Parts: sequence; C-alpha cells; structure tokens
Amino acid sequence: MSLDVEKIRAEFPILASEMRGRPLTYLDSAASAQKPRVVIDAMSDFYAAHYANIHRGVYQLSSEATVEYEAVRARVARFIGARDPREIVFVRNATEAINLVARTWGEENIAPGDEIVLTMMEHHANIVPWQMLASRRGASIRVAEIDDSGVLDLDDLERLLGPRTKLVAFAHVSNALGTINPVAEIVSLARERGIVTLVDGAQAVPHQPVDVATLDCDFYAFSGHKVFGPSGAGVLHGRLERLEAMPPFLGGGDMIESVSFEDTTFAQVPQKFEAGTPDIASIIGFGAAIDYLEELGMNEISAYEHGLLLYATERLEEVPGLRILGDAKEKAAVLSFVLDDAHPHDIGTVLDAEGIAIRAGHHCAQPLMKRMGVPATARASLAFYNTRDDVDRLVDALIKTTKLFA
Ligand code: PMP
Repeated sequence: MSLDVEKIRAEFPILASEMRGRPLTYLDSAASAQKPRVVIDAMSDFYAAHYANIHRGVYQLSSEATVEYEAVRARVARFIGARDPREIVFVRNATEAINLVARTWGEENIAPGDEIVLTMMEHHANIVPWQMLASRRGASIRVAEIDDSGVLDLDDLERLLGPRTKLVAFAHVSNALGTINPVAEIVSLARERGIVTLVDGAQAVPHQPVDVATLDCDFYAFSGHKVFGPSGAGVLHGRLERLEAMPPFLGGGDMIESVSFEDTTFAQVPQKFEAGTPDIASIIGFGAAIDYLEELGMNEISAYEHGLLLYATERLEEVPGLRILGDAKEKAAVLSFVLDDAHPHDIGTVLDAEGIAIRAGHHCAQPLMKRMGVPATARASLAFYNTRDDVDRLVDALIKTTKLFA
C-alpha cells in the first residue's frame, strides 16, 4: 500500500504554517523531524489528565503512569526487534546513549593499548565520547576509510580489526551523505573476532525497518526526536547479557535496590541505567510516534522516500554548478550539495527567505567534510511528509540563488 501523503501532511500541524510569508517547505528532518498531532495530543493529554511520577507512588495516577511508561518500552522493543523489553534503556538522545556505553562498558573493557575502530563518516556524537574514553584509558582510535562517493571501504575496515580492537562503532546511516552501511556484514566481521559493536542508528530508525536481532549488534542507539517523537526521549538498545554485566551510569534514585551509607546494591536492567525522574511525558509521546509509524508501515515509508530521493537527485542535477556529495547505491533521502559560487550558509539564508528550511554547515561531521574536501555543505533531508512540490520549490529557489551569486 502506498502512502496518502496529503492526508499525512494534514496530520502535522506545523506543515500548514507560513515562514517569511511563504508556505513552509521543511527539508531538515535529519536534524529533527516534525511531530504529528497524535504525538502532541498524547503529551498534552498525559500532562492534563494522567501526570504523576513513575515507579514510586502507590496511588492510582502514579501506578497508571508507570504502566504507560513501561508499555512504551515494550512497544520500542517490538518496533526495533529487540528480544526483551529489558534491552531498551531510555535516555535523552543518541548522544547520551553512546556516552552511556563509553562511560560504563568502555571504562571496564578498554585498557591501555586497546583500539576503537570508527569510520570516516561518523557524527561527532560517535567520535568524541570514544576519544574521551581513549584518552582516559590510554587507548587509540582507528578510522576506516570511505571512497569518493561516500561508501565505506569494508576492506580497510577489516584490515583495521586486530588483536587490540575492542570495539567497532559506526553509523547505520550517515547524516551528512545519506550512505546506508551494511550493518549485518560489519557486525559479522567484528563478531568473528570477538569484537563488540555499537551502531549509531539516529538516521536509520526514522526511515527504514530496523531489526536489531537480525543486525546482531551489541548496542544500537537512536533519538526519539528524529523519529517524529518529542525531544528528550532516546534509546540505547543493548544485548541483555551485556547490559547486565555493565556497571551503572548515573547514580541516584530509581537505579538502586537498597542504599546504606556503607553500601548500595543496584537495580536490575534497565532501571540500573535510568537514575532520577526521566522525561516521562516525552516517553509517552514517543510511544504515540511509534504507533503512528507502525500504522503507516516502515516498508511503505522507506519505499516512498526512496522514490522521492531519486526524483530530488534528478532535479538537483538541473541546477547549474551544483554538486551532490555522496552517491552511494544504498542511500537514504539525504541530499548534501555545494554550489560553485555560493557558500552553504548563503544558500541557507537565500532559501530561508523563500520559506525553505535546509541545513548548512559541517553537520557535526568535520572529519568527513575534510575527507570530502569541503568545509561545509548545504543539506536537504526528506521525510515521508515531503512531496515532489517541496523538491520543485527547492530547485526553483536554488536556480534563483545561482543567479544571485553569478
Ligand atoms: N548520530 C547521527 C548520525 C546523527 O545524525 C545525530 C543527530 N544529528 C546524532 C548522532 C546525535 O543525535 P542527538 O543530537 O539527538 O543526540
């Protein structure tokens, strides 16, 4: 079944708004996605009628809030194919999920001289926590190369996997180029050698079906705000036995079994990693976002976005002096580009005057920009609520831009 995009658009209130006197053309979903009415309503209804803290109260409101919150955990587990809801740890975002692993698993398992393998296309969120860990532990970072089209060099990655490699951490989908990495293949290369894997799924979960059991990775991280849910809700998926073997992250309420001034025993997984009051309402909204996506169907979303990517690629090639960066065969609907005479920030500003929202800059991937030989790019990223009209408006505005900077 294909998507009824006009109906979908009507379900996202912000898409009916105007910017700079023009209809909003939102092409920055890779930075953060817009929210459907059901998500906004789920949150306001929770605050208006069901709000209380979780895991604490004996009274009805609190126990109902707890049931709702835990029900979202079970829905997330099903949505990404986790074997058990206890494998789902709620965090604020993908960044926090990766830092959690670096601070817990990393502190216990990375020793002086060990190596952590990353790829050239990582977001800073999947570089900096490992660099910080490596410098604390006396370990080093190795980086797998990519080719000029933005495809990961698997031979290079395999060459880097040696006796000191303890972790391979890599993006499922590149936020700056759209490249989709062969996750199962990379995980299998690592697993054959007993190496742990962490997948940064921030750009994958919103756009394609993800099944962590098939991918077979040890950790998988993503953010709710890119999955059409609220900001403040994110997920770390970890294999149960790994999570159980890890020390806690933050200490405090909710993550303990018993506390005395002499000694504390910790709660079971996943509560062990969820100290303090979480962003309860965001988790509730996140649950509504998952229900919404499941109703549309991730296969349908992925097929629709792929069609739109092909259309946008073809149309962008009509713009004089425009060069797209990243043309992997397996590619998500992200279009990074540069124009001959205009700086990406200038492109962003000109498009903004037309009500078109794109991202311009280094996309938190400075090493990748350096590898591609540019300081920055302009990036249009598409979601299932975008249309060919949005792409046409982008192309018209870019042609106008080229004339301004000619
Ligand atoms: N990884 C990738 C590939 C991303 O695109 C992003 C967000 N741009 C992140 C990690 C970090 O996500 P967040 O800011 O939600 O933690």
